Amino acid sequence: MNKIQMTTPLVEMDGDEMTRILWKDIKDILLLPYIDLKTEYYDLGLPERDRTNDQVTVDSALATQKYGVAVKCATITPNAQRMDEYKLHQMWKSPNGTIRAILDGTVFRTPIMVKGISPVVKNWKKPITIARHAYGDVYKATEYRVPGPGKAELVFTDEQGKELSRQTVYDYECPGVLQAQYNKDSSIYSFARSCFQFALDSKKDLWFATKDTISKKYDHTFKDIFQEVFDKEYKEKFDAAGITYFYTLIDDAVARVVRSEGGYIWACKNYDGDVMSDMVSTAFGSLAMMTSVLVSPDGKYEYEAAHGTVTRHYYKYLKGETTSTNPIATIFAWTGALRKRGELDGLQDLCAFADKLDEACIATIEGGTMTKDLAGLWEGDIPANPVDSRAFLEAIRGQLEQRL
Ligand code: NAP
Ligand code: MG
Repeated sequence: MNKIQMTTPLVEMDGDEMTRILWKDIKDILLLPYIDLKTEYYDLGLPERDRTNDQVTVDSALATQKYGVAVKCATITPNAQRMDEYKLHQMWKSPNGTIRAILDGTVFRTPIMVKGISPVVKNWKKPITIARHAYGDVYKATEYRVPGPGKAELVFTDEQGKELSRQTVYDYECPGVLQAQYNKDSSIYSFARSCFQFALDSKKDLWFATKDTISKKYDHTFKDIFQEVFDKEYKEKFDAAGITYFYTLIDDAVARVVRSEGGYIWACKNYDGDVMSDMVSTAFGSLAMMTSVLVSPDGKYEYEAAHGTVTRHYYKYLKGETTSTNPIATIFAWTGALRKRGELDGLQDLCAFADKLDEACIATIEGGTMTKDLAGLWEGDIPANPVDSRAFLEAIRGQLEQRL
């Protein structure tokens, strides 16, 4: 059989622990036999990040800017215990944070749905994608524990040192708490463009919600910027694609989401996205079935699984035990990246291969063969057949072969 050819390389970011093991197996079993895989390889495994003073992470992000599409394995974000375990020179920052900062992107998380594993919310028929604005607000707030009576003021001084605004926040008569949050237009514009761009890409409606009725300057600015970007840059494209942009208040959005069928993208401010993404992913079933893509405002894409390196399974693997770690989200990261590469380069057969591999994954699970995490959630008619990771990948390959 002739292998499928690629023209532009994918940026491949390898990672750590159990997902690093799965990474190689996925390539060996499901990709390399069928595709003449072209990648520019960056090893983001913790030893190599430490050896290169994290330069490899920066280089991989710059390569993503150059080529436009990356696929990333889960990576360890070091903490004190990892410093010891890996004898690190420094507590390197989260690679995802570094890559996101360079690409200025927004992360979109989408659950993979299969028949036999139903969301807790019974009327959700299609996936709900959550986009979180991962910049500013309460995550970069300045806080003060007010000790007793006194006045809190909000002051703004311009670059020339001229005071443009001074407002009393509160005249305290007793102890209390105080917080100042900020955000900036450039970041909100980027967030808006990434959201509209991704909605167009995935041909899904975009929802956005804030509390602009209460927060007349702060949240209202988010609302206004989204509307401006939509009207000026996306309205016609949305009309042509038959999708809509829908704005509402955050509490109304929450109520509508629960009653909806799903099938749209929900853009959230930073805190809303933090809370709602955990709620939505839990309600859809399993972290192991959640994909994630970082989309930059100028249309660069980095695909990955939403879960981490599955450390607990890796320690079992090191002891020689077989593990039943779910590779689905990592496979979907690969197919997402291959499909996007195919779209950009006009490679029909690469896109078709990605679709078939997705279908093969779903068909394997729906046929009853799955990893242990899913067997626990299974409500299908036939009994679940829980298998280890390798047997699962081989079963997917069997389904794939039938489709090629
Ligand atoms: P995790 O790797 O997502 O795993 C947490 C637990 O969720 C696992 O122990 C396992 O539960 C279950 N799980 C997650 N993915 C699974 C899969 N594919 N198949 C089966 N079960 C799965 O999170 P963590 O243990 O908190 O973090 C481990 C490391 O990953 C940390 O070093 C962290 O920094 C890193 N991390 C990286 C990323 C990223 O690169 N994007 C994201 C999050 C975390 P059971 O043990 O009950 O089977
Ligand atoms: Mg959270």
